[in-house]
Amino acid sequence: MNIILFGPQGCGKGTQAGLIEQKYRLYHLSMGDELRKEVKSGSALGQEIKSIINKGNLAPDSITNRILMNVAKRHPNLIFDGYPRRKTQLDYIVKHFKIDAAIEIDLTEKESIRRISTRRVCPKCGRNYNIIWIKPKVPGKCDADGTILIHRDDDKPKEIKKRLGIYTKDTEPLKEYYKKIGILHVVDGNQPIKAVFSDIEKFLKRL
Ligand code: AMP
Repeated sequence: MNIILFGPQGCGKGTQAGLIEQKYRLYHLSMGDELRKEVKSGSALGQEIKSIINKGNLAPDSITNRILMNVAKRHPNLIFDGYPRRKTQLDYIVKHFKIDAAIEIDLTEKESIRRISTRRVCPKCGRNYNIIWIKPKVPGKCDADGTILIHRDDDKPKEIKKRLGIYTKDTEPLKEYYKKIGILHVVDGNQPIKAVFSDIEKFLKRL
């Protein structure tokens, strides 16, 4: 089974994908995390990706296609988080995978900006926190490994606006395709984490 999870930045895709992964044994493929792994490796490709990500732009399809295929070789059942983000990527995924469901986590732009500007991330393990409602036990440090938390460069106001612009222009319209083939399900991302997951499960149980 393959599921696409999408929604604006800060809607909780990563958190919900993690919960689905634990319970339904699908592999959580976060394209953003995969790209950041390449950046961390220090490779020449990683340097190129870093400058793209930090400006809030999208990486080229040649890179994301390769990442996708590498992960899919090892994991037959996937939750796609942050992919596809534009029409060319939708065409690619449809050509190579059977998609069983597309779940949109809906969130207002105002709430998206509020969540992202207060998000902090562990650069070592990737765990997300929020300085208002998901605080680490020790301020500024990751609960899992004690690493100093960072504010991602692409989570700063100018870059957030750019990323949201790309979402509205290129990613959100893809839902017309999901709707047309009858696999779209929309959940309200303004709810608490548990309530969003419960809504997602109601849908998954029907599959
Ligand atoms: P995310 O962690 O999902 O917020 O993604 C962070 C950044 O990684 C994005 O702003 C893009 O620069 C890049 N990225 C993530 N997913 C994709 C994708 N499907 N295509 C191209 N670039 C992507």
